[in-house]
Amino acid sequence: MAVASKEKTWGNYIGGEWIPSESGKTFESRNPANTNELIGEFASSTKADVDTAIQAASDAAAGWRDTTAIARAAILHKAAEILASRQADVGRELAREEGKTLKEGIGETGRAVQILRYYAGDIQQPDGEHYPSANPNTLLYTTREPLGVVGVITPWNFPIAIPAWKIAPAIAYGNTVVFKPASATPLLAARFVEALADAGLPAGVVNLVTGSASTVGDPLVEDDRVSAISFTGSSEVGRKLAVTAAKRGAKIQLELGGQNPAIVLADADMNHAIQHVMTGAMWSSGQKCTATSRAIVHRSIVDEFTQKLLDKVKNLKVGDPLDESTHIGPLISADAVANVVAGADRAKSDGSELLAGGSRLTDAGREHGYFVAPTLFANVDPSSQLGQEEIFGPIMGVIPVDDMDEAIEIANAVKYGLTASIFTRDLGRALEFAKKIQTGIVHVNSETPGAEPQVPFGGYKGSSSYSREQGKSARDFYTQIKTVYIDPPPAS
Ligand code: NAP
Repeated sequence: MAVASKEKTWGNYIGGEWIPSESGKTFESRNPANTNELIGEFASSTKADVDTAIQAASDAAAGWRDTTAIARAAILHKAAEILASRQADVGRELAREEGKTLKEGIGETGRAVQILRYYAGDIQQPDGEHYPSANPNTLLYTTREPLGVVGVITPWNFPIAIPAWKIAPAIAYGNTVVFKPASATPLLAARFVEALADAGLPAGVVNLVTGSASTVGDPLVEDDRVSAISFTGSSEVGRKLAVTAAKRGAKIQLELGGQNPAIVLADADMNHAIQHVMTGAMWSSGQKCTATSRAIVHRSIVDEFTQKLLDKVKNLKVGDPLDESTHIGPLISADAVANVVAGADRAKSDGSELLAGGSRLTDAGREHGYFVAPTLFANVDPSSQLGQEEIFGPIMGVIPVDDMDEAIEIANAVKYGLTASIFTRDLGRALEFAKKIQTGIVHVNSETPGAEPQVPFGGYKGSSSYSREQGKSARDFYTQIKTVYIDPPPAS
């Protein structure tokens, strides 16, 4: 284990060394459930640190590209074993730093392990194709090659799974990485990089630079030595970075926000649908890009559905994520709390009916954390802010509809298109929904969140950039295709 992990102060990981920022400054990461608790101090990096990291990644690129896929796979497998052996501890740190419940934190760490294993296997699969040629003597084939240095920029809400699903394929396919994690969750980023380092990843293949969006993020996206950027985060930031990348011809992939609907038809298994709508909206404090924001429910069952959902929401225990009886931990920050409370206030003034929550919780041990009561609205106008925007917290609305056509029309009438669910026993309707819904991910009789690592992940419309992550789609982003024509020399 790296020396830095025993202390509360972490450096950047550049060229195989944990080193302080040239600024000599650090910033704090604090527990969002109790801001009196310091998680650690992290390098407050500058443009000069980014420059050093990009140079380290550039210097390592040729050696790593020429390392065999089998040897790269062995390192990923070893990193997976190391992280698996630390899963309970890292999962606990995740709960303390990000605010997910302990169970979710351990589960997310396990997901990072799974992703490392998946790409260790995938990189050993065929990487090109052989084609017939117009010339009978020509051997014509394609192969895939790495892009070079990749910049990875991640959000705080999946602080180890998202770094894993970008960095594992990036290095598996032979790229080197400069990684700028969210400033709210640098410890989990460091733990992921530490597992790779401890597995024997050569110096410079992955470089971690912590610090602010302006001093670390912008220089990373602007640098011509960085061939590609993989970004997950808010739509506003993603769009801005896409412009910067396009100006210098860099490849960029964006995974952005969501405003995800769950349609409940009259023939649905009511209790099953309610459970999945509730967990889809509220687990991880609703801070998932795939969280359910709208339940679009057939009018004939909407009163019963809403009442039973309300009973569940009112029974959720909000508190310390390390307490095993807690269902919902804190939000990530004071700004996030203010955003949810403002969203609830706006929903009230837009005419939606507040059934539960809508305010900050500061009692019973929650004085020093960012807690919000799970918030449920009924009779939401689909064109209101709550019906249209991503609020990113434990807040959702119920929208009554007369039939499935209306439900799908409302479901599609937002700028996002990440994921959607339908609850029904009618296979024909489920298939029609799967065809008509404008989202990159579709669930039938299960909640809107959920992303298995072996299949593509990403959204339609404003949720993505027409690219996909995970599964075999990752190969499309992290490699480029070379077409090779080989003719025998003329007979002498
Ligand atoms: P964010 O504010 O956009 O930040 C994401 C990352 O970008 C952070 O590392 C941030 O650094 C960095 N950043 C911000 N401004 C930048 C700039 N000008 N140049 C370079 N980097 C910059 O998003 P967030 O609040 O962390 O995450 C929540 C959002 O992510 C939600 O909208 C959610 O839906 C979305 N999300 C999408 C997916 C998906 O796969 N579709 C998955 C998870 C989350 P700092 O932390 O230092 O500001």
